Amino acid sequence: MTPATEDTAQAVTKVIAEAKRELSSRTPALVDLSHEVFGFSELRFAEHRSSARVAAYLDSEGFDVVSGVADMPTAFRARRRIGSGGPTIAIFCEYDALAGIGHACGHNLIATAGAGAAATAGALLAAENTPCDLVVLGSPAEEGGGGKVKLIEAGELEGVDVAIMVHPAGFDAVYKPNLGRISLETTFIGKASHAAASPDEGRNALDGATLFLSAIGLLRQQLRSSSRIHAIITEGGDAVNVIPERTKLAVFVRSPDRSYLYDRLLPAVLDCARGAALATGTTLEWEEVEPAYEPMILNPVLGDLAGTALEALGRSPANTDPKGDSAGSTDMGNVSHVVPSLHPYVCVVPGATTHTRDFAEAARSEAGDRAAIDGAAMLAAIAVVLARHPDLVDEAKRLFNKDARP
Ligand SMILES: [Zn+2]
Ligand SMILES: [Zn+2]
Repeated sequence: MTPATEDTAQAVTKVIAEAKRELSSRTPALVDLSHEVFGFSELRFAEHRSSARVAAYLDSEGFDVVSGVADMPTAFRARRRIGSGGPTIAIFCEYDALAGIGHACGHNLIATAGAGAAATAGALLAAENTPCDLVVLGSPAEEGGGGKVKLIEAGELEGVDVAIMVHPAGFDAVYKPNLGRISLETTFIGKASHAAASPDEGRNALDGATLFLSAIGLLRQQLRSSSRIHAIITEGGDAVNVIPERTKLAVFVRSPDRSYLYDRLLPAVLDCARGAALATGTTLEWEEVEPAYEPMILNPVLGDLAGTALEALGRSPANTDPKGDSAGSTDMGNVSHVVPSLHPYVCVVPGATTHTRDFAEAARSEAGDRAAIDGAAMLAAIAVVLARHPDLVDEAKRLFNKDARP
């Protein structure tokens, strides 16, 4: 990581104070936005009210909104150009919830922080007429569907110089390893038969699934500890007195190392499935059902800005999560392979873990509101500093070209 120059650090600290002042009049509207999106609790690709609500807020702040970009009804692009020239800065808003446990990843806070940041940066830059092109991308379906992958494929990042967002967590951090992730669906096909009268004529597809899961469990001992393999059975048979003819599993395979993921983990998991099929006399079919997520690459220039911003907010960016070495996977990882990117974390409740019922509760609490507003101040400050100092954008791009993986 390149050390932030004292000048840059001072600039960030100064802009955090400006951003907080600018945000204070917006806070009630932003808290309403956060709580409404929380209440909608819409799942991936069905975030109709959430997307419309965030887009309407940005429209009210002078952004030109185009809904339904990249062939996704719940995606949007909101743009505010200030002057001509200047950097193009993309701010991502997520707003999808999780099945069964609602906003347990706090994406309502991501939407609020992103929209608040864009509004605040727009107001500050317009007041001084510093050129900048602010683009807010409403990105659906981070939880599995890969909305950002579709935005990339549709060209929404063309012309973008840097992309930023912030995620709520149980800690403050500039960066945590986000794992590359492959999403598989495996199907075992057997032969139905009476489970008591003629079991010997059947071939049990649930046995295939069971052996597959057992094989994965044994495989783990031979894997790097940063690997993650986890599955659920999505079809497990239809009637207890019929030998299951077909079973399906949803499987995620993850690693921070892209080549390890593709060259070691994926073949090993597929061998487990093939072995299970062979042993049970069933047939295996498999496919990748969702876009793969790439490991996150932190841009050092953006990381330095975020670290200084967190400190200026009275937070501790060095605070690492005591619970482990990864923070799951994100489609922001894919963005980070296309443009210089930032995916830091703001603490809601220290030690809290996402995808839990406790985190869902925190995402609508005062602590959640504070995290969203601090996240907005952080992203606004970064956008304003980059617009005021385009040389930092050039440096971020230079390091991206040097360091980014193909
Ligand atoms: Zn999330
Ligand atoms: Zn999540």
